[in-house]
Amino acid sequence: MNEYDLIIIGGGVAGCSAAITARQRNLTTLVLYAGDGALGKTKLIDNYPGFPHVAGPDLLQHLRNHASSMGAELTRALVRRVMPLGDNFSVLAGNDLFMGKSVILAMGTARVRMLEGEEELVGQGVSYCATCDGMFYRGGTVLVIASDHEAIEEAMYLSTLAKVLYVKERPHDTSELPEAITQLPGNPLSLKAVGEQIVLTTNEGEVSADGVFVLRPAVAMTQLIPEVEVQGNKLVLDSDLMTSIPGVYAAGDIAGAPLQAAKAAGEGNIAVLAAARYLTKKSATSIGVSS
Ligand SMILES: Cc1cc2nc3c(=O)[nH]c(=O)nc-3n(C[C@H](O)[C@H](O)[C@H](O)COP(=O)(O)OP(=O)(O)OC[C@H]3O[C@@H](n4cnc5c(N)ncnc54)[C@H](O)[C@@H]3O)c2cc1C
Repeated sequence: MNEYDLIIIGGGVAGCSAAITARQRNLTTLVLYAGDGALGKTKLIDNYPGFPHVAGPDLLQHLRNHASSMGAELTRALVRRVMPLGDNFSVLAGNDLFMGKSVILAMGTARVRMLEGEEELVGQGVSYCATCDGMFYRGGTVLVIASDHEAIEEAMYLSTLAKVLYVKERPHDTSELPEAITQLPGNPLSLKAVGEQIVLTTNEGEVSADGVFVLRPAVAMTQLIPEVEVQGNKLVLDSDLMTSIPGVYAAGDIAGAPLQAAKAAGEGNIAVLAAARYLTKKSATSIGVSS
């Protein structure tokens, strides 16, 4: 398993800014990013220092080039789960596991709208990770609720274990779905447990299965790292941008208003310097140096 001093989740302004300074501090750094985030959707930015009148995607490319030229590893993958393991963290991205000594959450504001009844069934028939939980349904029937084309690969993996029913939550091209996977009509509305089965209600009716895999391009914070403290829907952060879990920091839009690129860059910097101090302290403690 690959191990890093720092794993940054999100490859937008905050994540790239953190990665640049992390490399200056000589931290081995992995940036995992699912897509282009808010900056990728921004036609023109006029208030980012040093780059007047810049297109969001161009600025993003400069930031990513800068981070990788400093030696950060940038990998495109959706992070599904961050698990505290002792004082390290295991990060599940796509189908791969990475280990980090510290983590920066820089996932922007992507909100996940869950189906009615979904949250209560997580771990009790509802899963977000085919690789993690697919085996539990070997020989049974699973329902895939899919938001984009990337769900097809996961559904194909599940079809090697179980009968797969596929319902779209958002429109996407499913021409590559193999015949063995049955695509159902209807828009997903709610989930409920009935005996051992999970029942999905759509606007076309009901369908039941042994398990449900909800495959979206974003993951709700409560699923990604349920151990972290939130108040309302805001992360609880200290002045170093550390969350309630030592070694886990947040930066950028995810850390709150103002939702601005320059603020995200600044917070990436604050969070990574705090993470570097945390790592120095941690390694001093592990070799028995008292401060
Ligand atoms: C239309 C529009 C116009 C704007 N105009 C301006 C402007 O003029 N000036 C200004 O300063 N700001 C502007 N903003 C805001 C600015 O774009 C954001 O403040 C800034 O991009 C925030 O940076 P960030 O790194 O926090 O998040 P983002 O840029 O949103 O990056 C988030 C990153 O996290 C990734 N991610 C999310 N979930 C996961 C996951 N589970 N696993 C892996 N990766 C994940 C995303 O794929 C992305 O790479 C605008 C925003 C929009 C939408």
